[in-house]
Amino acid sequence: MRRALLTFAALLGSAAAVAATPWQQIQHPVSGAPQSIGGFANGCIIGAQALPLDAPAYQVMRQDQRRYYGHPDLIAFIERLSTRTRQLHLGQVLIGDMGMAAGGRFSSGHASHQTGLDVDIWLQLPKTRWSAQQLLKPQPLDLVAPDDKQVIARHWQPQIDSLIKLAAKDSDVTRIFVNPAIKKQLCADAGSDREWLHKVRPWFAHRAHMHVRLRCPAGSLECEDQAPPPPGDGCGAELESWFLPKKPGSTPPVKKAPPPLPPSCQALLDNHRL
Ligand SMILES: [Zn+2]
Repeated sequence: MRRALLTFAALLGSAAAVAATPWQQIQHPVSGAPQSIGGFANGCIIGAQALPLDAPAYQVMRQDQRRYYGHPDLIAFIERLSTRTRQLHLGQVLIGDMGMAAGGRFSSGHASHQTGLDVDIWLQLPKTRWSAQQLLKPQPLDLVAPDDKQVIARHWQPQIDSLIKLAAKDSDVTRIFVNPAIKKQLCADAGSDREWLHKVRPWFAHRAHMHVRLRCPAGSLECEDQAPPPPGDGCGAELESWFLPKKPGSTPPVKKAPPPLPPSCQALLDNHRL
């Protein structure tokens, strides 16, 4: 706590100069029993854990950003998925943004990732581990053709199918966001085992990574879950609608001013300002 206060005080002088959110100034998890609070795009987390940065089955990119915190359920999911990926010799799992130490809103990049239950995992599985320099300035591999209608065949690997399917079959996972062209490829490749596809949701961007979201953890009483995705594999009309000529709703939603924070998150921020 003292450390957090000092950090906050040190940053106060420059806070006005950068478009920071107060959440970025909280450098360490708030101690307490783990609690994800609020919604994925308007919340925070108490008792977050740092993902171990040194692990045999995955690597963490852009560690300088310190976006590697999450609910213990998220840490456990990443470890589970990577271990399975390693056992199947699919390659190294590359972990992108999770959340900040106390969750909350980033200054840029994401609206969600606020409650320690979201993680970006890249859709490439290198066979050898990346160097520290590669991890610091990672090069995304765009899987989607310039016409946005299909994946680039030479970039698409069966291992990517397997990685997304493994994640979707995890019982803690409720949604996975990928580009519509990637979902289309998954639909084409799936064969008769299709139940998991309903969790894979087409969304804007997400051309080089999947965004995995977990359900609210047991015991996080102030965590706001989303309704489950519609039943079915989602490979029909809903997916096709993403490929039709521009129609209302086919452009990314306009960014609105953030809603008021859940009271417990506001209290957490106020405590750090004292
Ligand atoms: Zn994401």
